[in-house]
Amino acid sequence: MDPSSGPDYRKSLPVLKNDWQDCTACELGQRRDQVGGNFVFGEGFPRGIMFIGEGPGRDEEKEGRPFIGKSGRILRHVIARLNIERYYITNIVSCRSCGQAYDTEGNPKTRWDRRRGVHIPLILDRPPTPVQMATCMPRLYEEIYLVDPILIVALGAEASKALSRRAITISRDSGTTMKITVPGAGYRPVLTEKRQVWARKVRGQLRTPVAQNEVEYLMVPLIHPAFALRNQSDQRWKNPVQIFVEGMKLAAEIYYRYVLEVFGDRPNIGMLTENDVLEVMQED
Ligand code: URA
Repeated sequence: MDPSSGPDYRKSLPVLKNDWQDCTACELGQRRDQVGGNFVFGEGFPRGIMFIGEGPGRDEEKEGRPFIGKSGRILRHVIARLNIERYYITNIVSCRSCGQAYDTEGNPKTRWDRRRGVHIPLILDRPPTPVQMATCMPRLYEEIYLVDPILIVALGAEASKALSRRAITISRDSGTTMKITVPGAGYRPVLTEKRQVWARKVRGQLRTPVAQNEVEYLMVPLIHPAFALRNQSDQRWKNPVQIFVEGMKLAAEIYYRYVLEVFGDRPNIGMLTENDVLEVMQED
């Protein structure tokens, strides 16, 4: 390390994951702890496109990996078709947000479990609350800092709002570019009083963001693939799948331009049509 640049306090991604994986700071972590679900940390490569969704669903909680359910299949298919090689996928919150579904009379809904031959409570995914998202943001800010993406793609209105800290209307803003500032991406290490060793306290009041670490990133807010899937016939959205495809192409263009400028080489732009996405959406 160049001594004039000072010590590098950055953690590695596995250390960041380790710091947070037992977190029970909000109801989502407490529920994960109770049901034995998985904490879902990001995965992929640094310094490419960073896709950030809202939070893990049932499949993701089960496997402990982001975007591996149906919307994940769509997202990963599109990434592959567009030849985006360097990417990282994560979420605003790392624990599943869900709750019991009720009918109009307030009775708990159930579903038939064919394997066990019993009715079991119907649990549906829900958007995390602003407080739950705020509790997880220090983890995400640090994850962004370590991944240091060339472009962030925020998947869905909730992720776009949380990251931009602006009022986003996803029907208007999907597929546009904006600059966002990631505050306090690093945490000041402290000399612990008792043992006189340098340590980064992870939970508690020592999470004070280091203001000079504010970094600007380019972000594309994008309609969430699950939303595009559900609202294909909604008249208010002219063509949500097309909007998703166009936004992903824009993100790929920005990525290719960067690769060309930095490496003097441009990957072959993959072909992607609305029908390619529809095919994956109609699977199973
Ligand atoms: N939707 C999300 O926003 N994130 C996931 O990980 C899966 C589905």
